[in-house]
Amino acid sequence: MTIHGLRIAIVGGGVCGMVCAAALLKEGVDAHVYEAANVLGEDEARLAGVPLCSNSRRALKAIGIWDAVGAHARQAFATAQGQLHGARGREYYQFLSGMPGHEILPNGDLRDKTVDGIPRSILLGVLTRIVGPERINVDKRCVRIIESPRGAILHFQDGSTASAEVVLGADGLRSTVRRYVTRSGDTGLDPHLKFSGTICYRAYIPMDAILAAGTTLDFSNQPFWFLGKGKHVMVYSIQGATLANVIAFASDLNETARSPEPAPETTREAATSEVLEVFRGWGPEVTKLLACADKYVKWSVDVVQPIPSEGWVRGRVTILGDAVHGMHPAQAACTGQGIEDARLLGKLLGHS
Ligand SMILES: Cc1cc2nc3c(=O)[nH]c(=O)nc-3n(C[C@H](O)[C@H](O)[C@H](O)COP(=O)(O)OP(=O)(O)OC[C@H]3O[C@@H](n4cnc5c(N)ncnc54)[C@H](O)[C@@H]3O)c2cc1C
Repeated sequence: MTIHGLRIAIVGGGVCGMVCAAALLKEGVDAHVYEAANVLGEDEARLAGVPLCSNSRRALKAIGIWDAVGAHARQAFATAQGQLHGARGREYYQFLSGMPGHEILPNGDLRDKTVDGIPRSILLGVLTRIVGPERINVDKRCVRIIESPRGAILHFQDGSTASAEVVLGADGLRSTVRRYVTRSGDTGLDPHLKFSGTICYRAYIPMDAILAAGTTLDFSNQPFWFLGKGKHVMVYSIQGATLANVIAFASDLNETARSPEPAPETTREAATSEVLEVFRGWGPEVTKLLACADKYVKWSVDVVQPIPSEGWVRGRVTILGDAVHGMHPAQAACTGQGIEDARLLGKLLGHS
């Protein structure tokens, strides 16, 4: 039940949009989500763990949904991901040099921090139950926003429309709502989106194949982080330790001036030979591991250039999550920041 007359439309049903919907509903605000895809979170990263650090947990607790989310995170630990992301009482990532010899590197005070992990598709499933499917409208790609003194009309690709008093854009890095808010035009290059200089190669590799390749580290029972100059490789077990989620990053900071590639090309397939070439000269644990994948998904990591906060709002429309501060995907910084955005917007709009 909602207590305000205020109707809020959230564009984008990713983690930040869905947490924001939950935060608004908790405050008694009538919130509705409009998502371009036909199923939430069914992308190639669905199995990947979303790390929930202390800032995310605090915000989720304040919204009143941590018990529901946390229960599934623990269940995911127990049944799907073993000790992924430093389950209580176990080690966090083991940091090793990626070079031959694989020297053990200190991991500072990270051991004392707890981070919960939950596969993205499970998290979005929990959030769907919290928000209620009747408030989530899929297959609704927002293409235009038109404001009037009394409200805003969202126009969708399928020709339909929806009205709201306030619009929140949680539509990710290539945000349509950001283009509206920052007056960046409907087409052409978005001046706020930049290539970060980092390429990321991702693969889910059967644990049996890794063992058969003759690696000596136990990838099923310990997350590892291999470091080298301008590159790093993360690996942790998922799906009851039957699969390893391997994520290899390679950065060239001279490349940051390059414009982002058009949307479909930001993720594409890459041959295993390309990844092995990028990590040529690295130690055997890394090269044997990387050689086990049939192929990789190659992802150009784009970021949103800082937008001064006075530019985050236009009329009745604002932006949150990756749409406003998309950053390098390290340690769930952007997810955490976006969950904090959601909490704050829930509070502010709940008092309006
Ligand atoms: C492949 C991949 C892997 C990642 N891995 C990590 C990781 O390991 N660690 C980490 O910290 N971060 C990672 N990230 C980043 C992290 O997922 C995001 O920072 C975080 O989820 C931000 O969420 P968001 O809800 O703001 O945006 P998103 O998760 O991008 O969600 C945006 C949603 O909006 C929808 N949408 C887009 N345009 C429209 C439109 N016009 N109309 C309606 N809906 C629209 C999209 O379909 C999507 O569902 C990863 C991101 C990707 C893409």
